Amino acid sequence: MSSSVIRREFMARPADDLVDAKRAFAASRTDLEACENANCKCARCECGKACACDVPDGKTCDPCVAFKKENSERAARAAT
Ligand SMILES: [Zn+2]
Ligand SMILES: [Zn+2]
Repeated sequence: MSSSVIRREFMARPADDLVDAKRAFAASRTDLEACENANCKCARCECGKACACDVPDGKTCDPCVAFKKENSERAARAAT
C-alpha cells in the first residue's frame, strides 16, 4: 500500500522537490516536457527532456541563466 513511498525513499535524490517543481512547471505549459537534467537547478527550465543546462559543453537556456544570476546575487547579498 505504501510501496510508492518506500520506492520514493529508495530512489531519493537531493533534487526531488526540484523534480516535482519542474514537472509542475512543464505541466503548466503546452508543448513542454519536464526537464530531467539533475545538473539543472532551475525549476523554470524550458529545455525539456533534452536539457543540457549546467552540463559541460551544454547550452544553458535563458531562464536558467537568469535563475543562476539571481542566485549568485542573492548569495552575494547574504554574504555581506
Ligand atoms: Zn533544465
Ligand atoms: Zn534550462
